[in-house]
Amino acid sequence: MAVPFPASGNLVSKRGPSTEQIHHPFRAPDGWEAVAVPVAKASTVLFKNTAELHRPRAQDGISYRYGLPGTPTTYTLAARIATLEHAEHCVLTPSGLAAITLTSLAFLQPGDEVLVPDNVYGQNRHITTGLLTRLGISHRFYDPLDVPAFEAMLSPRTKLVWLEAAGSITLEFPDLIGLLTACRARGVLTALDNTWGAGLAFNAFEVAPDLAPGLGADLSMQALTKFPSGGADLLMGAVCTRDAALHRQLVAMHEFLGHGVGQNDVEAVLRGLPSIVLRYRAQDAATRDLARWMAARPEIARVLHPALPDSPGHAHWRRVSPDAGGCLFSAVFRPTYDARQVDAFVDALRCFGIGYSWAGPMSLAVPYDLSRSRSLGLPWSAEEGGTLVRFAIGLEDVEDLRADLAQAFEVLKG
Ligand SMILES: *Cc1c(COP(=O)(O)O)cnc(C)c1O
Repeated sequence: MAVPFPASGNLVSKRGPSTEQIHHPFRAPDGWEAVAVPVAKASTVLFKNTAELHRPRAQDGISYRYGLPGTPTTYTLAARIATLEHAEHCVLTPSGLAAITLTSLAFLQPGDEVLVPDNVYGQNRHITTGLLTRLGISHRFYDPLDVPAFEAMLSPRTKLVWLEAAGSITLEFPDLIGLLTACRARGVLTALDNTWGAGLAFNAFEVAPDLAPGLGADLSMQALTKFPSGGADLLMGAVCTRDAALHRQLVAMHEFLGHGVGQNDVEAVLRGLPSIVLRYRAQDAATRDLARWMAARPEIARVLHPALPDSPGHAHWRRVSPDAGGCLFSAVFRPTYDARQVDAFVDALRCFGIGYSWAGPMSLAVPYDLSRSRSLGLPWSAEEGGTLVRFAIGLEDVEDLRADLAQAFEVLKG
């Protein structure tokens, strides 16, 4: 087959074979257009000449100087995530956890206080009580359903408030309108962990356009590991904002931390984004179906899912996110079943993997002991409910998942 090389250089070289591979004269012609975004890999970015090397760096916007701040591939993903999040700016990080750390470090100084919901993602609690305490940053955990108690905690030292909707594991939907209104009134910066909603369930920057126009968080972070990837195969995070000054602070901290992302992983997220709406809807529908079915099981004391009327924060969910329910629910087993029996139930499942994370193709189940990870207690007493299992619903056929749960209940009883 004839290879139609353009006449852009002499392909027969007198240089050695190594030099020729590194300084090869062939340049693919311009004019390439495809649906997929090309993967642009670099640590070294080449300058045309020393004049370009010495040129002062642009303060805002994109300039290519080194692989770490960004490549055409990462800037493309950042722009698409900003759009998904209804934001203007986006910083990518190597994990969702790194996005949380970046946010807290960018906006907190020694002597400041951060308020964190008691049902916050476990690793955010860990950073707050561990790393931030070491840096002289104090914290308080608040009940995301109790706005008066939250307001009483706000002080001149409060410099950042974390929000999460729905909360981790117990999935209480916070009183976002009440909490954000209280923060706005005092000029306190707010950061929402928006992993559950993914930018699809509601707009983090305007959470209730009809009820409270313009009310929203200042920053929205999400684990791209979850819905945007959808593959259970990579880790990545993002922090979005509409405020250019806040974005500059994030970029400055991003440079301190050296938070690079792998280009193949960026490409994988770019492949996941076109199907995110379809996946979110399908997983949401299957999750609600199975959550309702579980709630009717005699072995289960209660099911936690914001769309269920007796789930904590249901009224707040209806105001902010009435069309979206995520892919998670938790089932609290009756206290007659001890933790060992509930473990046996989980071990008996065949369609559900046992493992962390969610929003991938495979459904997952994890039993949790929350007794040591909550400061303000749980929404049920030990007489009302025992061990909790969190279910993340994937993309399997829902009848297979239902049949699997049913056979595991037989194991539990037998
Ligand atoms: C998974 C998750 C994170 C962290 O994301 P990683 O990419 O796993 O570090 C943060 N917040 C929430 C709510 C999550 O579910």
